[in-house]
Amino acid sequence: MNAAPRIAERALLCAGLLTGAAALLHVAIIVGGPAWYRFFGAGERMARLAARGSAYPTLVTADHPETPTHLVLYRAFSALGGVVHTHSHYATVWAQAGREIPCMGTTHADYFHGPVPITASMADDEIASKYEENTGHAIVRRFSELDPTTMPAVLVAGHASFCWGPTVTGAVQTASILETVARMAYDTAALNPGATPIATALLDKHFLRKHGKNAYYGQPTAV
Ligand SMILES: [Zn+2]
Repeated sequence: MNAAPRIAERALLCAGLLTGAAALLHVAIIVGGPAWYRFFGAGERMARLAARGSAYPTLVTADHPETPTHLVLYRAFSALGGVVHTHSHYATVWAQAGREIPCMGTTHADYFHGPVPITASMADDEIASKYEENTGHAIVRRFSELDPTTMPAVLVAGHASFCWGPTVTGAVQTASILETVARMAYDTAALNPGATPIATALLDKHFLRKHGKNAYYGQPTAV
């Protein structure tokens, strides 16, 4: 292996992972192509390789060190069809700050039913042994009283985000939306440090009109 692919591989290993429940391969990255590589922060070299139809980006994503984290999530959250892990900038900033992402507006409420949670910091022994698997367990513990179908994302303290959905495409969309609301929340706090999260009534209205059994927003029967 020459030097260039090694650089590209490191970029992707650091940047993220996408898996589908069925194959646990990065099929959606293959389907999504260069634009998705860029979103995942894999770098221009990887994107150009994908654009040229090179098999290399596929090969390096098929055996990722964080796959054990995804396996824990698939086992614990039965509805998952895809999981995405990225180090997208603003979501990662919140994770590094050790702060959940507060629901500061209805853009957030349209997709996440409450603040996007953050895990507890992992203990030294959890990091020393089976780190990636234990990352999954830390996420599952954080969701002991949360519903992964209404909160399709989490921040791992000091690390970055994991997002999911019923399909691999849905998981990618969640990751993209998470980055948007993370940036909005960051900018809101910068502009007005005293800004507070929206009221529960407004959160519920926006989330529940789009999700759940009584959803009506965007439905054919809406009046
Ligand atoms: Zn990571």
